[in-house]
Order: sequence, then structure tokens, then C-alpha cells
Amino acid sequence: MTTQRLVRLVTSVLIVSILLPIILSLWLAHRQANDLFNQEMDGYADRILARTQRVKDQVRTALNEINRFKGEPCSLEHLRQLQKVSYIHQYIQGIFYLDNAVKPCELLRNTLSQKVPNSEFVTPGGYRVWLTSRYDLQTNDNMIAVSRGKYMVMIDPDSMIDVLPHPAYPLHAAIISTRNHRVIASNYAIDPDIWQNALHTFQPVIEHNGVVYKQQLLPPVGGILLTWSTTNPIDNSWYHQLLFWLPVGLVLSALASFLMLRILRQLQSSHYRILDAIKAGEITVHYQPIVALKSGRIIGAEALARWQQPDGHWLPPDMFIPLAEQTGVITQLTEHIVSSVFSEMGRWLAQHPEQHISINIAATDLYSSTLPALMSQQCARWGVEPSQIAIELTERVLVSPEKALPVLQSYRQAGHPIYIDDFGVGYSSLSYLQELEVDTLKIDKCFVDTLACNPVTAHIIEIAKSLNLSMVAEGIESECQRDWLVAHGVQSGQGWLYSPSLPKKAFMAWAQENRRQTDAER
Ligand code: C2E
Ligand code: MG
Ligand code: MG
Repeated sequence: MTTQRLVRLVTSVLIVSILLPIILSLWLAHRQANDLFNQEMDGYADRILARTQRVKDQVRTALNEINRFKGEPCSLEHLRQLQKVSYIHQYIQGIFYLDNAVKPCELLRNTLSQKVPNSEFVTPGGYRVWLTSRYDLQTNDNMIAVSRGKYMVMIDPDSMIDVLPHPAYPLHAAIISTRNHRVIASNYAIDPDIWQNALHTFQPVIEHNGVVYKQQLLPPVGGILLTWSTTNPIDNSWYHQLLFWLPVGLVLSALASFLMLRILRQLQSSHYRILDAIKAGEITVHYQPIVALKSGRIIGAEALARWQQPDGHWLPPDMFIPLAEQTGVITQLTEHIVSSVFSEMGRWLAQHPEQHISINIAATDLYSSTLPALMSQQCARWGVEPSQIAIELTERVLVSPEKALPVLQSYRQAGHPIYIDDFGVGYSSLSYLQELEVDTLKIDKCFVDTLACNPVTAHIIEIAKSLNLSMVAEGIESECQRDWLVAHGVQSGQGWLYSPSLPKKAFMAWAQENRRQTDAER
């Protein structure tokens, strides 16, 4: 995958990793708010269920207790017993003795003045139940009456839903009887459509006009419990949850984007840009002819890396070679240059064994184990003599000679001539030159530029001569410079006087023309 594709992929991941934690935090806040709301509603319904069960248990205990009375009906003892049972069971509102044969007990005269109608239903345990019995004492409230044997107790149905709702939630409840299809207890007005619908179709949760209704069976009464609340608490709680979750989401998305941006920066770094350029074939090789100065006849060329940018301009190697060195891709680049030189010029070199090409090599390349192998393999493949491939090293290479010398020697033993590039500009010591058994010194352009007034140039030439090294002068731009160099015994040179660096085809054409001309001059 190219770096560009990788960059696109990482950018997409970056966008997702920024958005995802924020979306997730919104979703989590919403979910938490919903969960809290449902917990409150379910807790409320559970409390009502527990209360209903307690009321039912009290009714049963009270009736069983009083039925155990064996004394004289309506006696003082009987009345006391009735009172006692009523007092100790908090949900029992009234208790009656039913026996038409006996005159009504004094205390209860007003309450059961009429004949008791048939019960609405009988529970499996044998209790008779009236869901809408009116109770005494001039109240209009509907009561539930439950009877067993000769006793009847009254309960206020509201006591079954009279449990504490959540202080912050406006929760309401109603009990609907499935026997007589009536609301038997309710602590808030309920839309008749809702409870009638609940009787016909059992839906655990319905949302209607911004109100959530929950429905469940209420076995102790044989009815349905409806609890409801507006959805406002969800919104309020959502904002609260958001105050917690959103900062978490923002921190996570900041972290993720920080990581992704780091990866992106790395991918867009020079390292990957150079590797991509190599892969895409954007870095090519141009050849600058090297000529014998006396005759002007071509003896070879220097391979120079060229990087064409998308806008068409050429990035100078002085800019990208140091970058490739710093970012650790120089050896990949050098190997690419070597491969390109052979694929472009291999056949030409084989056809012209008197010609050579010099390749610039960086300090780090000396530690590559693959480069020497690549060189010898390419030479063998194209039928090129190793002596036709010169290795150009700048003086920087000689900064740590202990490591450089053995590698250079092995190149030399393989047959490659060694050139010291830009000689005189750096810090190379003469002793290294002796030890290295270098073949050629390249006199840097700055010395060629100042030939007449710079005594160093003549001095460099003297050193080369004394070490028996051949010389190539760089950057020859005028005939005057050439004449001076020839006069001082410099054998070969390159420069715009002859030709700038050229792409393969142009270089081959130039070489052919040069040979034709120099042949003619002979
Ligand atoms: P260099 O090896 O000393 O190459 C000679 C430089 O002088 C080249 O610059 C060439 O275009 C320039 N030159 C030659 N004749 C003239 C002239 O008459 N006038 C002027 N003004 N300039 C002339 P270039 O191609 O820009 O290369 C600069 C440096 O980049 C090279 O200096 C070399 O050190 C390095 N380089 C180029 N290609 C490679 C490569 O493939 N690998 C490595 N490691 N370094 C390379
Ligand atoms: Mg060079
Ligand atoms: Mg140079």
C-alpha cells in the first residue's frame, strides 16, 4: 500500500476516532438517562406490587383471625375483638359481622343497613370480593370489600398505590380491574383511551404524547397496574449524564486524534515521501558526461539523482540526499540509483567497455551488506566490468576511517575504482588517501571557479600527482578553466562547458555526437 493510500486511510480513521467517542458519549448519556428513568418507573411499580401483596396478606390474616372468634355475636367481647382486628391491621378500614339472623351490632348499625349483594367474584382461596363497595361514614370513596365466613373487611384501594414515588420524578399509578373494567385506584387522572386499550392489548411499554406508560399484571387484585410519567425526566437526566460522559468522550477523541495525527505526521514525513517517490519512479537518474580534457572525448559519466515534483520542477539532490540520509532511507535510494543505472545504461556500458559511470555513495551505504551484492549481481547480469562502475565518496565518508576503510577495500578488490568527491572541501587527511588506495580525486567546483587566484587548487593537484592519483575536475564552465587544468596536468573533467547532466536518451545522443566529432578532429 502506498503512503498516500495509507494517509487517506489514517485520515478516515482519524475522523472516525474523533467522532466515535463523542457519538458514543452522547449515546451512553442517553442510554444512562433512559436506564435511570426505567429503573425509577420499575422500582415504583415494584413498590406498588409489594404494597398490594401486603394489603392482601393483611386482609387474609384479619379475616382468619376474626373467624376464629367463638363467643356471643355482638357481645362486648365480640365488638372488642372486631375493633382489635381493625386496629392492628393498618390497611383494614372497617370490619363487619354479617348475620341477618342477628340484629345488627350496635356499633356497626349504619354501615350495613342494607342486605349485602352477591360478591363480584370469589378468589381460589374462597374469599368473596366486591370491588366497588361503598363504605360508611358518608364518604364517597370506592372501597374494596372482602369477605370470608360471617365477616367482611373494607380496604381503601388507594392504599395499594399510596407508595412514595421518586422525589424528582412525577410518577403516577392506576389499578384497573380486569373483572369489572374499572379504574379501582388512581393517584392521577388517566386518559380513558389508555387504560381501556391496556385492558384489550397487553403492551409492557407504550409512549403516547410524550408520556411513557408501563403496564403489568397485578395478581393480588386480579387487575392491571399502569404506571406512567412524562419523558421530561429523561431529557433532564440526559443533560446531567452528558456533563459526565461528554468530557470523557472529548478526552478520548483528543487522545485518539493526537495518536492518529502523530501517525499521519510520520506518514507524511520525508522518510515516507522519499520511499514513495522511489516506488513511484519519481526519482530518476541523469548523466553528466566526463571527458578527457585534452581531447574533449567522452570517457564516461557521473550518475546524478533527480526528483521531479508533481508541479514539474526538479528538486535539487543537495536538498533530498541529506534528507534521505537523515531519515534513514539513503541506502534504499542508492540501491534504486544503482538499479536504474544498470537498467538504463547496462547495455550501453557493455557495448562501450572504455566508458564508465560513477555513482555517488553516502557514508551510511558503506554499512549496507546488500549494496556490494547488488553491484556485482548487476555487473554480471549486464556484462559490465566492475571497473566501469566507479564509486564516488565525499570526504564525509572518511570521518570514521576504521569502518570505512575495509568496506572500500572490498569494493576496490571487486574491481570498482574509488573516487574521492569534492576533494579539499572537507577534512580528509592525506594519510587516509594513502591507506585507502584511492584511484581518483575529484576537484570540487569551488576550486575550479577560482583557479587563477586560489593557490589551493594547484596544491591539490600536486597532492594528487604525488599520490599517483588521476584527477577529474568538476564544474568546468569556460575554455579558460579547461586550458588551465590541462596545463596543470588534470586529465579529465565535467562541467557545463561540455554538457549539463542529461537524461539517458539525450546523454547517449550527446556521447555519440561527441565521439563523431572527436573522431573527426583526430
Ligand atoms: P557532486 O557529486 O559533486 O556532483 C556534481 C554537482 O555539480 C552536480 O550537482 C552537477 O550538476 C553540478 N555541476 C556539474 N557541472 C557543473 C557546472 O559546470 N556548473 C555548475 N554550477 N554545476 C555543475 P547536482 O546534480 O545538483 O548534485 C549535487 C550533489 O548531490 C552531488 O555533488 C552529490 O554529492 C549529490 N548527489 C547527486 N546524486 C546523488 C546520488 O545519487 N547519491 C548521492 N549519495 N549523492 C548524490
Ligand atoms: Mg559526485
Ligand atoms: Mg563533487
